[in-house]
Amino acid sequence: MTVTLITGANKGLGHETARRLIELGRTVYIGARSIERGEAAATGLGARFVQLDVTDDASVETALGVIGEREGHLDVLVNNAGISATADAVNGPVALMVFDTNAVGIIRVTQAALPLLRKSENPVVVNVSSALGSFWAVTNPERRQFHYPAIIYGASKAAVSMLTVQYAKALPDIKFNAVEPGFTATDLTPASRGHRAHGDHRRGRPHQHLPGERRRARLVVPGAGAVHQ
Ligand code: NAP
Repeated sequence: MTVTLITGANKGLGHETARRLIELGRTVYIGARSIERGEAAATGLGARFVQLDVTDDASVETALGVIGEREGHLDVLVNNAGISATADAVNGPVALMVFDTNAVGIIRVTQAALPLLRKSENPVVVNVSSALGSFWAVTNPERRQFHYPAIIYGASKAAVSMLTVQYAKALPDIKFNAVEPGFTATDLTPASRGHRAHGDHRRGRPHQHLPGERRRARLVVPGAGAVHQ
């Protein structure tokens, strides 16, 4: 049985990814920093729950310890937990918080998960990045990302993509993928609502895309086919 851990899966894209994997019969651990929100989400989905705050080393170690005890291995780690920042809040404390969650969090969870991933026959790590961290997209006026001010968030997501490449090179025994899930109305996106020129603001609906933009991203999980977001 494929065992998957998704960080920040009590709502939003992580929650939807968990729902679809469970539909396919996978064993899914919802990682959430809030016990209350995480347990409620896991109960609703038929998932398992581990308390996991990606900014807290002890919580990450404990969460992976619990999965190790219960499952003995981990096949798929989805580093999904993320936060944004408003365009006008550009300062050190905000930058530290966003980078700690979006980029350092990936290092924390991945490092703690490595021993369990190495016990899988086909270990995969999926890092949820963003086109706002793509040098190509943010410098291309045809792309909506060109028009968004996202100094801190964009830089943190560029770090996510680079972490993926560097991990893939350093650890060839594990498959590392970065995914851009597509612009989707979640609790993360209101910060940029004022800049949505073309979007459908209804929750959960992908926004209309500019010509040439991909409509959907493919999140490939071994044995599960492609999960569209
Ligand atoms: P969301 O609905 O706000 O969900 C974010 C999740 O991350 C929540 O479950 C949140 O938990 C969790 N989280 C935040 N900080 C955490 C921490 N320190 N430890 C553990 N969990 C934490 O946002 P989303 O849109 O689904 O975002 C999911 C991922 O997709 C993010 O990495 C985001 O950057 C990326 N992304 C989103 C879009 C989009 O259009 N929505 C586009 C590109 C990329 P709480 O409930 O406790 O806050």
